[in-house]
Amino acid sequence: MNDVLILGEVKEGSLDMKTLELLGAGRKLCGDLGSGLSVVLMGDELSKAVDQVISYGPDKVYKLEHPLLRGFKTDLWVESLEQLCRQINPKVFLMGHSFIGMELGPRLACRLNTRLTTDCIDISIDPEDGVLLRTKPVSGGNAISVFKCPGEPQLATMRGKVFKPAEPAEGNGEIVDMVPEIDESMIRVESMEVVKEEIVALDKADVVVSGGAGLGEEDGFEMLDGLAKALSKSFGNVMIGCSRVAVDKGWISSDHQVGLTGTIISPDIYVAVGISGAIQHLVGMVNSKKIIAINNDPGCNMFKVADYGVVEDFEEIIPALIKKLEELS
Ligand SMILES: Cc1cc2nc3c(=O)[nH]c(=O)nc-3n(C[C@H](O)[C@H](O)[C@H](O)COP(=O)(O)OP(=O)(O)OC[C@H]3O[C@@H](n4cnc5c(N)ncnc54)[C@H](O)[C@@H]3O)c2cc1C
Repeated sequence: MNDVLILGEVKEGSLDMKTLELLGAGRKLCGDLGSGLSVVLMGDELSKAVDQVISYGPDKVYKLEHPLLRGFKTDLWVESLEQLCRQINPKVFLMGHSFIGMELGPRLACRLNTRLTTDCIDISIDPEDGVLLRTKPVSGGNAISVFKCPGEPQLATMRGKVFKPAEPAEGNGEIVDMVPEIDESMIRVESMEVVKEEIVALDKADVVVSGGAGLGEEDGFEMLDGLAKALSKSFGNVMIGCSRVAVDKGWISSDHQVGLTGTIISPDIYVAVGISGAIQHLVGMVNSKKIIAINNDPGCNMFKVADYGVVEDFEEIIPALIKKLEELS
């Protein structure tokens, strides 16, 4: 049975490890539904990614390989997925809440006349009727709602870093080769490559030093850069994060934003400097292993989630911290 299907993502020929979280989520549903777990992979060269995904024990892997599926092209990808869904009729279809999932999910829901729930932080099956229950933050993260929608496939995009990744598993997963019927005339949205001077992969950092409105001006980030450099001598990969206010003020690019509408992270250490701890920020970093807050307001919300707090003007404490770290390294 193809009841639960997930969209695996492939990066430069290899399986994107985010797919393992979807496999974990999908496997949980299969247990409740008593159904099989299938994965669809799309691209122009998928052999390596198929071998990788099969070692996590899915029952089937749909390999949608086509020269035109090289790189992400919204129209061709959604067309290929529509063809697959019409052929195999999955009951549930899960995608990551990634750029790809956010592009494809709404389009596919519209084409298949079904409903999509985005950015889910939990999913389960209602034992009464076998329908998917989709849990997600609403009202800017101030409340959590559970949605239940008619229509199949039951389509959801899943937030990253909330599901335990699947473990390698034995299995005799079947590989199904499918060649979608697509051609260049179907391309309506062109993609272009944006070359960035700097790639910010906040979710891969061991330590994130974040600045907020409390820095007062753009120059405050120079001081945070100094702290990041000093920390990197002892703590690995250190990156600069920020609150949305810092982005809105134009002090730093949105690639650095942590939170509901930024990146969700769980580094070993998160240092929040001049950040009040609004719920939309907290949802992005509250799973960090150790949280250190520097803020001159002892009543600020960030101290409620912090493991260590320093009530002080950041301009006083950060140079002292840098000096101490340099003495110790
Ligand atoms: C739909 C929606 C989505 C959002 N998504 C995000 C998101 O993804 N990420 C995000 O961050 N926000 C998000 N926000 C905005 C969020 O609600 C807050 O407005 C924002 O997080 C506040 O940023 P801040 O803490 O830097 O600023 P403020 O709330 O203004 O806090 C500044 C802090 O700095 C302290 N401070 C001031 N001077 C100093 C000093 N000299 N030394 C030390 N501390 C000092 C102050 O005591 C204060 O606590 C979202 C809002 C909405 C409505």
